[in-house]
Amino acid sequence: MINFQYLRTTTSKSALALLSKDKAAKFLAGGTNLIDLMKRGVTTPEKLIDINHVPLKQIELKGDTIIIGALASNTAVAEHALIKEKLPLLANALNAGASAQLRNVATVGGNMMQRTRCGYFYDTEMPCNKRQPGSGCGAIGGFNRMHAIFGTSEKCIAVHPSDMCVALIALDATVVLANQKGERKILFKDFHRLAGDTPQLDNNLKTDEMIIRLEIPINNLAKNSHYLKVRDRASYAFALVSVAAALEISDHKITDVRLAMGGVAHKPWRLTASENFLKGKEASTANFELAAKLAMTDAKGFGENDFKLQMAPNSIIEALTLAKSKA
Ligand SMILES: Cc1cc2nc3c(=O)[nH]c(=O)nc-3n(C[C@H](O)[C@H](O)[C@H](O)COP(=O)(O)OP(=O)(O)OC[C@H]3O[C@@H](n4cnc5c(N)ncnc54)[C@H](O)[C@@H]3O)c2cc1C
Ligand code: SF4
Repeated sequence: MINFQYLRTTTSKSALALLSKDKAAKFLAGGTNLIDLMKRGVTTPEKLIDINHVPLKQIELKGDTIIIGALASNTAVAEHALIKEKLPLLANALNAGASAQLRNVATVGGNMMQRTRCGYFYDTEMPCNKRQPGSGCGAIGGFNRMHAIFGTSEKCIAVHPSDMCVALIALDATVVLANQKGERKILFKDFHRLAGDTPQLDNNLKTDEMIIRLEIPINNLAKNSHYLKVRDRASYAFALVSVAAALEISDHKITDVRLAMGGVAHKPWRLTASENFLKGKEASTANFELAAKLAMTDAKGFGENDFKLQMAPNSIIEALTLAKSKA
C-alpha cells in the first residue's frame, strides 16, 4: 500500500471542491472495497476524501418518490420500514449481499461503484484490460467460472458484482450526481457501462462528480416480488446468477413486470424483451418458460461459465414463480 493523504469533509460542496483540485483523488465511504483494492495495489490514489460525515444518509418519501442518500448504509436501507413496505425487492437484494458486518458500513454509493471480483483484476501480476488497458484479458481462455454471458467484449468478460444494483435497475431508479456546477440526473440503467473497448470504465460517473442520492418511483410491485441469488455458499458469496423479479397481477393477467439479472454481465442486466413478452399475458409457468428462453437469445459462454447458460433461464423461471406465489 502506498502512502496517501487523508482528508475529511462534512459537506458535498467541500468534497467536490477537494476533488476538483485532484481528479485522481478517491472518495472514501465505507471503505469495504476501496481499502481492499489499495492494499493489493490495484488502486493507488494519493489522496482519500472521507465523505462519511457528509449528511447524505436520508431515506424518505417525497410525493410518490423514495429518496435514498448516497451515504445511507446498506443495512439502514434494507431495515428501513419504508423500504421493507414499498420496495421489498431492494431490501431483499441488499440482505442477500456480503455479511451483516459489511452491510453495516457499506454505503449505497460505494455499492454502485464497487469494482468487479474477477481474480485477474485483483492480481497485479496478471494481464487485465480493466486494471491495465492493453495488457490483455486473463479470463478469456482462463478461469472464467464467475464471468459474463451477456454483452461481453473481446477485451473484458467481467461481471458487476452488486446485488443492490440488480434491484435498482428493475425498480427504474434514477441517480442524482453533482459536480461543482450543480446536479444532473441519469437513469440507473444508464449509470453502469458495458465493457466494449473501454473496460477500464465501469460507469458514466465523470471524474469531477459525486453520487448524491437515488430517486425511486413508488410502484404496485411490492406484493409479488422476489430476489433470487444462486451462489456457492448460503451467505458471504457473490452471485453466480441472480434475478430480481416483480409482477403486478390483475385478473390473472400480468399488468406490470420487472426482470433483471446479476452475475451475468458487466452491468446490471435488465430483461426488457422478456418483460415486453410477459405484459398482458397470464402469469403461468408456460409463459415464464418462454420469457426465460427469450432472455437467453444472445447469451454466450466462455468455457468454465457455460453452466450459466442453463442456470440463468432456470433462475428466471424460479424467481418469477416465487414472486407470483407470494400471498
Ligand atoms: C468479503 C466481501 C463480500 C462481499 N459480498 C457482496 C455481495 O455478495 N453482494 C454485493 O452486492 N456486494 C458485496 N460486497 C461488496 C460490498 O457491498 C461493497 O464493498 C460495498 O458496497 C462498497 O461500499 P463502501 O461504502 O464500502 O464503498 P468504498 O469501498 O468506500 O468505495 C468504493 C468506491 O466507491 C466510490 N464512492 C463511494 N461513495 C461514493 C459517492 N457518493 N460518489 C462517488 N463515488 C463514491 C469510492 O471512491 C470507491 O471508488 C462484498 C464485499 C466484501 C469485502
Ligand atoms: S474479464 Fe475484465 S477484469 Fe477480468 S481479466 Fe479480463 S479484462 Fe480484467
